[in-house]
Amino acid sequence: MSTTKYIFVTGGVSSSLGKGIIAASLAKLLQARGYRVTIQKLDPYINVDPGTLNPYEHGECYVTDDGAETDLDLGHYERFLNVKTSQANNVTTGRIYQSVIEKERRGEFLGKTVQVVPHITNEIKERVQQLGSTGEYDIVITEIGGTVGDIESLPYIEAVRQLRWELGDDNALVIHLTLVPYLSAAGELKTKPTQHSVKTLMESGIKADILVCRTEHDLSDDLRNKLALFCNVKREAVIQSIDASTIYDVPNMMLEEGLDTVTLKKLGIQTTKEPDLTRWNEFLKRHKNPKGKVKIGLIGKYVELQDSYKSILESFIHAGAENEVSVDVKYIHSEYINKKNVEGKLKDLDAVLVAPGFGERGIEGKVEAVRYARENNLPFLGICLGMQMAVIEYSRNVLGIKDANSTEMNPQTPNPVINLMEDQKSITDMGGTMRLGAWKCDVKADSIIGRVYNESTIEERHRHRYEYNNKYKEQLEAAGMIATGVNPDTQLVEVVEIPEHPWFVGVQYHPEYKSTVASPHPLFVAFVKAAHEHAEKN
Ligand code: GLN
Repeated sequence: MSTTKYIFVTGGVSSSLGKGIIAASLAKLLQARGYRVTIQKLDPYINVDPGTLNPYEHGECYVTDDGAETDLDLGHYERFLNVKTSQANNVTTGRIYQSVIEKERRGEFLGKTVQVVPHITNEIKERVQQLGSTGEYDIVITEIGGTVGDIESLPYIEAVRQLRWELGDDNALVIHLTLVPYLSAAGELKTKPTQHSVKTLMESGIKADILVCRTEHDLSDDLRNKLALFCNVKREAVIQSIDASTIYDVPNMMLEEGLDTVTLKKLGIQTTKEPDLTRWNEFLKRHKNPKGKVKIGLIGKYVELQDSYKSILESFIHAGAENEVSVDVKYIHSEYINKKNVEGKLKDLDAVLVAPGFGERGIEGKVEAVRYARENNLPFLGICLGMQMAVIEYSRNVLGIKDANSTEMNPQTPNPVINLMEDQKSITDMGGTMRLGAWKCDVKADSIIGRVYNESTIEERHRHRYEYNNKYKEQLEAAGMIATGVNPDTQLVEVVEIPEHPWFVGVQYHPEYKSTVASPHPLFVAFVKAAHEHAEKN
């Protein structure tokens, strides 16, 4: 294809309708037909990136190879497409304004008054087209965060209107995702909210080309005709998106509804190619027909909001399918674990994962969970803060350094087995200043990770300020906790293991960011396998 085509996905009526999943599913279908596709998310909030947001606000912060702290939808894009995203795939209002203001300070606007239209909208348009201009993609799908009619999404909607006009019908289209609610008292699905939301979009000069209707019940033919007529779209462009038992069913559901064919038709792309979803459907088959079950405890302090651990949960789904078992994740709030109740909370589990996190709250509970897993030969995976807790636990309970701690929790600790990284000491700004993105790690061959990765050097993604303190390395190793993964340039310890334990691994990096349907993360696959073996034995 010679020119890049642009698809915009907007949302109406309500938030949380699953725009990200619809965008990812359409992308999957187009990719399965042989097109090169990427997805971008534009977020209308003023934070420069979600890195400074509490997980309770916005769910997990997803990290890309190039070290961008991004919206969790980018995780879905990578998991569905198995294609890497980068900073360019996630743009916020804060970033747009920051860039425009910097240009203004440099005098780039030549004395003009800097305004939302055209300066902010131009910046948005540039960010959208920047992905297309790389020549790497046939199709760029841009998801606009928020709901039409929101004050803060107005500049984005205006930018979409302009782009749609400039690029023309064959090169750009708008998919509008809405809700068709079911009123149980009336026993009816209602189209009025959708009509209003399409009208709101029209007031901004945008006519939706395709309607995707989120619903709990099947849309009848009559209802589809009505939606088409009142919302000004072709009948074939009314697509139903019914609640699915798993997000991984959505590409097939969209295929059945013809979302990909109507999209291609509207973009003037003639094709005889059918989507090849072989690998995807193999995964689905294994995911839906498990031969066994494992129960894994997820120890964290954001367990009330599942989105906080999105990538970990999805990694378990991929790894479960690979092992042909279902992974039952039991959330355990670290704040409420103590010496007395830890056994009661953890004894029925087949494995324990101690989650990433920041700050002091819930720390002692995490240490107790590590101790329980270590002493009871329960497979253990510690991620980032979870790995740091494993080092603290070992120092306290095996080395006997009772006051061992991280300087994050106690800056005055006499035994900082986890310490602020040297280059972090001069940093005062919180946003975008952690050790982020992909870093190399040399792998010890004779170790769990050596066998799992089967490579001597790996690259994994990071997001942390504190690190294993190498001053304690000799002591820790002599006592049985071995550093099996080390950064070749800085000697930073990336992985610890306890060879005497059946399966005990702590990783400073985040393997969960790199697990995809097509390529489940080997560490999660091995961890679930270890959990399964533990379950069979007991
Ligand atoms: N708070 C720890 C640090 O900054 C761990 C971070 C994390 O778990 N992502 O090093």
